[in-house]
Amino acid sequence: MKKTTSIKTRITIWYTTLMFALLTVILLLIGTLSYQLSIDNIENDIRLQVAEISDKVGSRQSRDIFHQVDSNKEFKNVSIYLENGEYIVGQYLYDVSSVPFMRDELHRETVEGEEYIVYDVFKPARPGDDRGYWIRGAESINYAKVLGGSVFIIILIVIPIILLFTALGGYYITRKAFLPINNIIHTANNIYTQNDIKQRIQINPEAQKDELHNLSITLNKMLDKIENLIKQEKQFTSDASHELRTPISVILAQGEYLLDIAQNDKEKELAENIVTKANQVSKLVSRLLLLARIDQNRQKFNKEKVDLGVLTDIVVDSMKDLAAQKDILLLTNVADNLIVDADESLLLSAITNLISNGIKYGNESGYVSVSASRLGNTTEIIVADNGIGIPEEHLDKIWGRFYRIDDVRNDEYGSNGLGLAMVKSIIELHGGKIYVKSELGKGTEFRIIL
Ligand code: ADP
Repeated sequence: MKKTTSIKTRITIWYTTLMFALLTVILLLIGTLSYQLSIDNIENDIRLQVAEISDKVGSRQSRDIFHQVDSNKEFKNVSIYLENGEYIVGQYLYDVSSVPFMRDELHRETVEGEEYIVYDVFKPARPGDDRGYWIRGAESINYAKVLGGSVFIIILIVIPIILLFTALGGYYITRKAFLPINNIIHTANNIYTQNDIKQRIQINPEAQKDELHNLSITLNKMLDKIENLIKQEKQFTSDASHELRTPISVILAQGEYLLDIAQNDKEKELAENIVTKANQVSKLVSRLLLLARIDQNRQKFNKEKVDLGVLTDIVVDSMKDLAAQKDILLLTNVADNLIVDADESLLLSAITNLISNGIKYGNESGYVSVSASRLGNTTEIIVADNGIGIPEEHLDKIWGRFYRIDDVRNDEYGSNGLGLAMVKSIIELHGGKIYVKSELGKGTEFRIIL
C-alpha cells in the first residue's frame, strides 16, 4: 500500500529541499568567488609592490628603496636578492628563498606545507647586464583558503539551522492555513459516525477570508439545505402516514363487515383479500409513523422497569400460533428478575419483530430461541434461529428502510422491509445497540445490548 503523507508535510519537504539546494548553490558561488577575488587581490598587490621596487632599484632612489624594504614597514611581501640568489633584504613575513626564480611569472609554490603565490622580476644593474637584483614578491594564500573553508563551515553549520527554521516556520504556517480543512474533515466525520446532520463546520471569524474560509461557509450552507430537506422528507412521511390512517381503518372495518356478510366463497375470498391487504397497509403505516416520530424526536418514551422474563413470555405466547404453522419450536432462556429500564411496548414490538422474522425465515420444524442475561452493567438479549440465513453481502443493508433481500422470500408474509429498521430505531432510542450474525442456510442471530 502507498504511504500517505499529508499535504502539509509534502509542501514543507518540497520548499525545505528547494531552500537547501538554493542556499548550497548560493553559498558555494559566494565561496568560490570570494576565494577567486582574494587570489586576484593578492596577485595584484604583489605585482604592484614588485613593480614599484624594481622601478626604483638601480635608480637614484635605490638606497631609499633598500632602506624602505629593510624598514619592515612597507613592502612587507617583497625581498631582494642578488643575481645568484643570495639574500640581501626583506623576507620579513615568509622565507621563500629556497624557491627557484622564474622571471616575470606568477607561480604557485609550496614551502613547508604552506602555499604561496610568488612573483619574480630581475632588474639588471645596467641594461643587458647579467648582474643585478632579483625582486621577489610572495604572499601566502592561506587566508584565501581559510575564507573558502569558512564558507564550507557556514554551509555545514548555518544551513541546517536555517533549514530547521524554514521547515518549522513553513509547517506552522501551512498547518494554520490547513486548519479549516481539518475542521471540515472533523465535522464530516462526526456527521457520518454520529449520524448527526445538525453539526456544522466551526468558522473562526478572525481567520483570513481565503478560499478555504469560503469553502467552509459554502459547505455549511449546503448542510443547512440538506438538513432542511431531510426534515421536510420526515415531515412528509409523518403527515402522509397520519392522513392514511383513517381511510385504512375504514377500509379494514368495511372489509371485515363484507367478510361477515359474504354470501358465497367468491365473495368471501374477495373480502378476505381486502382485509389481508388492509392489515398489511395498516402495519406499514404504523411502522412508518413510529419511524417518523423517532426521527423527529417526537416518540413518547415511557421509561419503566421491565422484567425481560415476563416480556419474553408475552411475546412467545403471542407468536405460538404462527410458529405452530411451520412446526417451529420457540425456546426461551431468560435469567430470573432480569429488569431493564425501557419502554415496554416499544421493546415488546422490537422483540416481537425479531421472533416473527425468525419464524418467517425459519425452516419447517426448526427453532427460534430468545435468551437474555446480564453482561457487566449491560443486558444482552439474543434472538436466534436455524433458518435460511442472510447472505453476507446483505448483512449491513438489512437495517435500511424498505430493504428486502429478495421479493420471493418475503411475499407470502406481506413483508415491507421496515421491520429491522424499526427494531434498530427502537433499540437506539433506548441508547442500545443491535448486531447481526448470520450464515446462509444455517441461521441468524440478532444480539441486542441495552
Ligand atoms: P421484512 O418486513 O421484509 O421482513 P425486515 O426489515 O424485517 O423486513 O428484514 C429485512 C430483510 O432481512 C428481510 O427481507 C429478510 O430477507 C432478511 N431477514 C430478516 N430477519 C431474518 C432472519 N431471521 N433470517 C433470515 N433473513 C432475515
